[in-house]
Amino acid sequence: MRPFILDALYRSLNILPGIGPRSEKHFERLTGGGKILDLLWHVPIELIDRSYSPNIGNAEAGRVATLKVKVKSHTPSPRRSIPYRVTVSDDTGRMTLVFFNPHKSWIEKTLPVGKVVKVSGKLESYQGNLQMVHPDYIADGNKTDEILPAEPVYPLTHGVTNKAVTKAMAAAMEMAPDLPEWLDNSMLKKYGWDSWLSSLKKLHAPQNGEDLEPVSPQRTRLAYDEFLANQLTLALARRQQREKHGRAFNVVGPYRQKLESALPFQLTNSQEDVLSEIDQDMRASAKMMRLIQGDVGSGKTVVAALALMNAVDSGTQGAFMAPTEILARQHFETLEPLFQVMGLDILLLTGRMSAKEKKEAYQKISSGSAKIIIGTHALFQEKVIFDDLGLAVIDEQHRFGVHQRITLSEKGKGTDVLVMTATPIPRTLALTAYGDMDVSRIMEKPPGRKPVDTRLIPQEKAHDMIAGLKRQIDKGARVYWVCPLVEESEKLDLTAAEERYQILQSFFGERVGLIHGRMRGEDKDRVMSDFSEGRLDVLVATTVIEVGVNVPEATVMVIEEAHRFGLAQLHQLRGRVGRGGDKSYCFLMYKTPVTSTAKERLSIMRDTEDGFLIAEKDMELRGSGDILGTKQSGLPEFKIARLEDHGNFLAIARDDAKLILEKDTNLTSQRGKELRTLLYLFEADQAINYLKSG
Ligand code: ADP
Ligand code: MG
Repeated sequence: MRPFILDALYRSLNILPGIGPRSEKHFERLTGGGKILDLLWHVPIELIDRSYSPNIGNAEAGRVATLKVKVKSHTPSPRRSIPYRVTVSDDTGRMTLVFFNPHKSWIEKTLPVGKVVKVSGKLESYQGNLQMVHPDYIADGNKTDEILPAEPVYPLTHGVTNKAVTKAMAAAMEMAPDLPEWLDNSMLKKYGWDSWLSSLKKLHAPQNGEDLEPVSPQRTRLAYDEFLANQLTLALARRQQREKHGRAFNVVGPYRQKLESALPFQLTNSQEDVLSEIDQDMRASAKMMRLIQGDVGSGKTVVAALALMNAVDSGTQGAFMAPTEILARQHFETLEPLFQVMGLDILLLTGRMSAKEKKEAYQKISSGSAKIIIGTHALFQEKVIFDDLGLAVIDEQHRFGVHQRITLSEKGKGTDVLVMTATPIPRTLALTAYGDMDVSRIMEKPPGRKPVDTRLIPQEKAHDMIAGLKRQIDKGARVYWVCPLVEESEKLDLTAAEERYQILQSFFGERVGLIHGRMRGEDKDRVMSDFSEGRLDVLVATTVIEVGVNVPEATVMVIEEAHRFGLAQLHQLRGRVGRGGDKSYCFLMYKTPVTSTAKERLSIMRDTEDGFLIAEKDMELRGSGDILGTKQSGLPEFKIARLEDHGNFLAIARDDAKLILEKDTNLTSQRGKELRTLLYLFEADQAINYLKSG
């Protein structure tokens, strides 16, 4: 149960002053939730210094100032185009407050003649007179501290002013309880951290630039809290998974041997190593939770297929889940012929199948006649009941979250879980996302791969490049052409792609195809197979081809406005070529002028194909928030912490979490209780479920 002390923070935002039914929606969008707690995690990014309080006589135009003045007279606007003016004065002079189309009743009530008020805003000089247009604040002149000398500035959204945020925030801070400390005293001392409440107070009342820095002690403390909650959650998830009884599989049985000898190639050493780690896990009675990281084309799929055979050899079923329809179909098409030869029933289940097909599939899955099931998210659905799911393989994990992988594994009894990702994840990030799993890395690529010749091409040289491509196509090359990413808006991406499609048709003729995320599934499949079977030479695409598609004959990848993509994404895209025997090229186009960082990022792409190195560099240059460029990345989004600033605390938090749970298995000690509060503070409710009640 949630500790009572947090009740206030879980109350709805609309109880705060200034937040009504209408603005509540805007606030929810701004803070990512409707609770007071959500607002408290909204961090100021700047501050406005309002401490300058001169007299009118010596005030400097151009500065933000707070002045105490007396209202002398009103000059209503004679016409709409002329503003309403209010003359105010102090002992040293007069100035004008200027308003465009104010409500008459409001201005008369706020600035009655004779009243002493404090106004704060930017001073201007207009025809030799001092004026202030629409003061930011007008307060009672005899009350103190209504106008903050240092006003925090928050990120805003349509319908929410900074004034509204600061007002609501002040009230929210009043409600924030002083929570009993969950951090070690020695830690607080070492880093000079304050209590949770004091840190939060300072965070929202920055006095200077240093206070705004992400590495300020107050922000760092709160970031550490967040990491600790994250690491406790993962450690608990991990423990819970392991405590459940797994099953001991019959490893390297007849099916596995058959498949191994049917492979047209030898496994690389890296593949062998990873496979033996998997075998070891599967043989043991504990539950397997293993992640395979390996670059695109490193041969993860084969490894997964061999692992699936262990499940089949033990009389259970295996599920293989892909992140997209296209990929699920592609895996199915690669694996079906192999398995058919061995007399294994393999089944495809995707959202796009007809109701009748699905029903048949459900039946085969629940009766156990289907041994290997390949599918998309559709495998999660309640209707899907496995006869006996032994192994769940999840491909391209970065599209799924922790809870999803647990959900799938709960479809069976003691189901082993194998996750594969082609997204090279920097070590720090891996800690936040996969702390609950064991990690294997495939470092080596299958032999015979030629490096992809990567070149940076300014947009102006597009024509030369196209001419070059024409020669390549005449010799039989197949080309991917990826269109620029526009503001994450698929509609705009689409327009760009369609235009480019037409232009390229004018160069290359009819054998140019277009594929994008808004197409119907069957249409996508058709275009994709036209390309992979050679009926198209050029495939113009938005980033839908990003994940996993395998067309070994494709040898050229053109990426327009490459500087707009994340490096990890560029790396994934480039991985689509260089899969066959022929020399491959990747052209990264950029619009001049580019910033030096952008150029530097693209140069990294030119200089290396090592995904892990690229990922580390990307994080250095761009910060964690953008690493995958997408919100649906499945990686946790932190509210307070920023990996590029606080990342060095992550390993500390992990060790801390481990130690805590070793000493206090169920968080029942006094400190354990406070830590439960921390978990609720970061809404790690899932973690609480992992704790035994009591
Ligand atoms: P990933 O899933 O890691 O992107 P795949 O498993 O799809 O990689 O492998 C890419 C290609 O390399 C496939 O065509 C596959 O058949 C081939 N392949 C995999 N392992 C080897 C190997 N050891 N030797 C040669 N080719 C391999
Ligand atoms: Mg793959």
